[in-house]
Amino acid sequence: MLRCVAGSVGNSAFYIPSLPGVSATLRIQRPPAAPKKRILMNRFPILRVLLLAALAAIALPAAPAQDDHSQPTPPESVKSFDVSAIDKSADPCTDFYQYACGNWIKQNPLPGDQVRWARSFSLLRERNNYLEWQELNAASTDPRTPLQKQYGDYFAACMNTDLIEKKGIEPLSPALKEIGNLKEANQLAAVVGDLSAGGVAQLLFRFRIEQDEKDSSKQIAGISQGGLSLPDRDYYIVDSKRFESIRKQYVEHVTKMFTLAGDSPDEAAKEAAAVMQIETALAEASTSRVELRQPENRYHIYTLADFEKLGPKFDFVAYFHSINAGQFGSLNVATPNFFKALSDLIVSEPADAWRSYLRWHVIHGAAQNLPKVFFDENFAFFGNILQGQKEPTPRWKECTTMTDRALGEAVGQDWVKQNFPPAAKASMDKLVAALEKAMGDDIRTLPWMSEATRQAAEQKLAMIRNKIGYPERWRNYSALKVDRSDLIGNLRRSAIFERNWNLSKLGKPVDEKEWTMTPPTVNAYYEPPMNDINFPAGILQPPFFDPNIDPAVNFGGIGVVIGHEMTHGFDDQGAKYDGKGNLRQWQTDADKKAFEERTSCVADEYSGFEAAPAHEDVTAQKLNGRLTLGENTADNGGLRIAFLALQDALAAEGKNLEEKIDGYSEAQRYFIGFAQVWCENHTEQSARQLALTDPHSPGRWRVNGSVVNFDEFGKAFGCKKGQPMYPANSCRVW
Ligand SMILES: [Zn+2]
Repeated sequence: MLRCVAGSVGNSAFYIPSLPGVSATLRIQRPPAAPKKRILMNRFPILRVLLLAALAAIALPAAPAQDDHSQPTPPESVKSFDVSAIDKSADPCTDFYQYACGNWIKQNPLPGDQVRWARSFSLLRERNNYLEWQELNAASTDPRTPLQKQYGDYFAACMNTDLIEKKGIEPLSPALKEIGNLKEANQLAAVVGDLSAGGVAQLLFRFRIEQDEKDSSKQIAGISQGGLSLPDRDYYIVDSKRFESIRKQYVEHVTKMFTLAGDSPDEAAKEAAAVMQIETALAEASTSRVELRQPENRYHIYTLADFEKLGPKFDFVAYFHSINAGQFGSLNVATPNFFKALSDLIVSEPADAWRSYLRWHVIHGAAQNLPKVFFDENFAFFGNILQGQKEPTPRWKECTTMTDRALGEAVGQDWVKQNFPPAAKASMDKLVAALEKAMGDDIRTLPWMSEATRQAAEQKLAMIRNKIGYPERWRNYSALKVDRSDLIGNLRRSAIFERNWNLSKLGKPVDEKEWTMTPPTVNAYYEPPMNDINFPAGILQPPFFDPNIDPAVNFGGIGVVIGHEMTHGFDDQGAKYDGKGNLRQWQTDADKKAFEERTSCVADEYSGFEAAPAHEDVTAQKLNGRLTLGENTADNGGLRIAFLALQDALAAEGKNLEEKIDGYSEAQRYFIGFAQVWCENHTEQSARQLALTDPHSPGRWRVNGSVVNFDEFGKAFGCKKGQPMYPANSCRVW
């Protein structure tokens, strides 16, 4: 689910998607090849790759193949309520996260191939991945249907690492040849257009057909900044020892990748410097994530003629023509300054710098699917240095993810037959209805809202569309050609297939039945212009949703997830859209002001929380309360309304919150069930990266941040007012 969250501002997912599987080890730092050989190697880059691979095999102890050391094993089931996870030596009123998760955290160290390991998300994702792998593996050897043949072949091509070694970087040669055609910087648009037409995805910027935020029934062209390789613009421009060191290591990495591709060390170093210079200029011209969260900051309708004047040196007309973008007279330019700067860069950077930049993006974009020397070097920087990952992701997991990304609704329709019974959907319908009622009750009793705004909020709530499990209509993949012996070709054709599918939406009515997550995904999302909540089948399982557990635990699990997604319709972003999904103020001015004071309280509170501690030369990393404001608001609202819904459900059965199971009251089981969703271990590097890039808070603060703002927690655990988890003053939006 990379595609939905990391760089996107359009939809509010429940959790960060799985991180890109950058894989391998720090094994290939070796002296550059001798000068004499360089000429030969420059002319025959594949030879160089094979030679380096052979040298690696001789010079180093035999390393296992990428997928040898981790064969798929059947996953363990995840308990919905786990008494053994609780650290009974901790005081729930002082640090509830430590109390609910402490033992689990101690007993479950981070596996080598992970940078973040969460009790619910990671374990369930491993399970879903395994079940999906079983399906793909069977289809790759014995397909029973045309769809199985298609996704089985896609998976098989990805698993065939012998063929990947044999092909070297030859599959990149059409793109690299195209880049060689760039003789003058002002040809950049035409070359980028041709590369994009050939399936090299999203170079320099993102162009796509999207909903018009002020008229959500329309689909229009939209363009936004892009073109970076490091996780965020801060990595290029922030002045700190840590980022300086990362930048230095990044340039070394880019240099190594160019030498692996056949360039001489001197040439490679020069190219890497050009890449860094261009990416840094793009980073300086980029709008920050916090600014981009606000929809009004990314809504600027330009006529095509005015857009061309904004960036006159980049021939957008040629680019749109190359990719068959269709006919449009205006478009949304999310980040106008970026395109002005891009145009200026074309004047200041020579053609050879642009060739280096494009070459880098072609090689880097394919690195995980090139011979092992590339794969290893890519992992060494993007996996190990940036995120602290110790071992590469096993190939079977990578290929399962890759196939899910390309053919998710093909594999998914078979997956749900096995793993999502109709009864599960019926139970979810009931739970969603219970949460809707609770949210309505909550809105009616809010102390700060006028009657006019209250009515508008209730209307918006009533208009939220619920999508549960999987799409009513599956996508048709028949136009996607899959070749069992052409991995890079499959990836390219899939990129073209996705782009054409997206471009075909221009001017058409919005398809309300469409999904942006595949059925096995362990996540959920709300999309403001659609005003819909979406729960893939993948998350509707234990520990989130367990037909065999008491309601308190289910309301603390999937109930909070549902409440979280509903609250997104009313967080600092979502509240700017009306029930039809149009960007329009529906709160009165006075209520808007009261709302903003309340969201500011949440933002300031979370800005005080620490994501990673200070040590040696590195300063502590605090959360950014403005980056995470929407998610924190949704967490707080979700915890509150699921609790109300639980009370309703217990009352309907003649029960109450004080009743005990296994020594814990229903209220305590609710909060512990909620907290145990978030038990996790992570590397420090990952925590630091996510604090800058992820709109979600880490597990500890998703738990403690939510309970400190909800007095029912302090009451449930008998805390004294003024204790850390039951403060005298707290924040409340919804
Ligand atoms: Zn969310």
